Amino acid sequence: MTDVATAVVRARAALRAALASAPRPVGLIPTMGWLHDGHRALMQRARAENATTVVSIFVNPRQFGDPKDLARYPRNEARDVAIAEAEGIDLVFAPGVEEIYPPGSDTTVRVGAVGAPLEGAARPGHFDGVATVVAILFDLIGAERAYFGQKDAQQVLVVRQMARDLAIPTEVIACPTIREPDGLAMSSRNVHLSPEERAAAPVLRQALLTAREAWADGERSGDVLRERMRAQIAGEPVAVVDYVSVADAVTLRELDRVDGSALLSLAVRFGTTRLIDNEALG
Ligand code: AMP
Repeated sequence: MTDVATAVVRARAALRAALASAPRPVGLIPTMGWLHDGHRALMQRARAENATTVVSIFVNPRQFGDPKDLARYPRNEARDVAIAEAEGIDLVFAPGVEEIYPPGSDTTVRVGAVGAPLEGAARPGHFDGVATVVAILFDLIGAERAYFGQKDAQQVLVVRQMARDLAIPTEVIACPTIREPDGLAMSSRNVHLSPEERAAAPVLRQALLTAREAWADGERSGDVLRERMRAQIAGEPVAVVDYVSVADAVTLRELDRVDGSALLSLAVRFGTTRLIDNEALG
């Protein structure tokens, strides 16, 4: 659909009605709002590949472990809708919590092994919340394709596994991470960084690139590569490592040796703000 204003719908019935006559294929971009250039890149890819594009904006309470983290998650729907409109998005689905989880809602989708380590271990229940809401969104929207950012690499694996196992035909497409000029991955959470923390935050990217260089020079030890990342982050006093990982790119099991492809990933705290990033090898 083109040349029409972006429609904003909040109810399941309105969503179904709007999609009933929409040209196919449909591309979905699930988001939690506070849209930035990373989200824009997903929208642009979706627009290029689909006749109708839908952005969902839903801060999913079930994927937050910490109520304070949920309460302070940044929100600005009017600005988000303006961005979606500028990107030519046809439909914004911005449901309230009870539209997604009606009273009595009592089902959780839990993905197995690939959701267990890394973010799954650091944030218990997080991926249950993600898999559940994405299953609901996939079911409600029935898109041919859905677009996700590689910044959340484990999320891509979890969502793919969920869709495959639940026989949901929406194809999950991973898109490259969009970064600030200094290498910091764009994230809605970056708004919480103090000036000092913001200045230190590119250390995530620098640590990943240091490990990548060591790997390119022939280093294959998982322990050495993990230690390179830790050492780089230790150089920033305001940065506190949550985890560093060198894992199999498919199973996310930690590797003793990197013989094929691998995923470098890390989570680092700056005060109360926790940032993640990753880099694929091979
Ligand atoms: P969020 O609103 O943070 O839940 O993100 C919605 C989607 O945008 C997810 O698929 C994210 O992986 C993706 N995304 C977030 N930040 C970026 C980024 N810097 N580059 C590419 N995709 C991103």
